[in-house]
Amino acid sequence: MLRRVAPPASGDEAAAAGSTTMPEWLETLLSTRFFLACGAHPASPRNECNMFCLDCPSPSPAFCYYCRSHRHQSHRVIQIRRSSYHDVVRVTEVDDVLDISGVQTYVINSAKVLFLNERPQPRGAGAAAGKAAASPYNCEICARALLDPFRFCSLGCKLVDTKTGGRVATVPAGEVANDDAAGGSKNVGGARPQGRRRKGIPQRAPFGS
Ligand SMILES: [Zn+2]
Ligand SMILES: [Zn+2]
Ligand SMILES: [Zn+2]
Repeated sequence: MLRRVAPPASGDEAAAAGSTTMPEWLETLLSTRFFLACGAHPASPRNECNMFCLDCPSPSPAFCYYCRSHRHQSHRVIQIRRSSYHDVVRVTEVDDVLDISGVQTYVINSAKVLFLNERPQPRGAGAAAGKAAASPYNCEICARALLDPFRFCSLGCKLVDTKTGGRVATVPAGEVANDDAAGGSKNVGGARPQGRRRKGIPQRAPFGS
């Protein structure tokens, strides 16, 4: 596995242009709320804002089908889709503009997709926790169980890794809770402690898939 031993060079990481640099619009994409009705086309049937333009810097980056044909005709536009109320994007629409290596892909409606953001997971007991414990692969950022040997569950978790220059392993598990009130700004999970399991426990994963 590729492990970074040194922090990324200080200063202009984006300009320094490694292949691991994520494009500027990615952060906007990941923080955008999609599937709201378009204010410019309130009465039209296909007015949900599920499009995102890679070429227009815009204060409201999500727009609808009609906006696309009016204002973004010659632009690179990607379409956001939904799976169980989570935003996904098709691999074919982003793999030439984004380095998606390491991100788990899923096949939904016979198309390969990526999740944009980390999905909430039930903690503690329950089916999902059992599944996570049984999976040999986990997201390096949020510890979600993965189906295949990928590093991240979503583009969001990969972005966290890119920005922090790898796993932040210095925060002991007990200290995170105390920090809640202090920060104010949302920490996007970068310092979340990894749920490390004790080594030496034989893992007998049921072969679900
Ligand atoms: Zn519109
Ligand atoms: Zn545009
Ligand atoms: Zn994750």
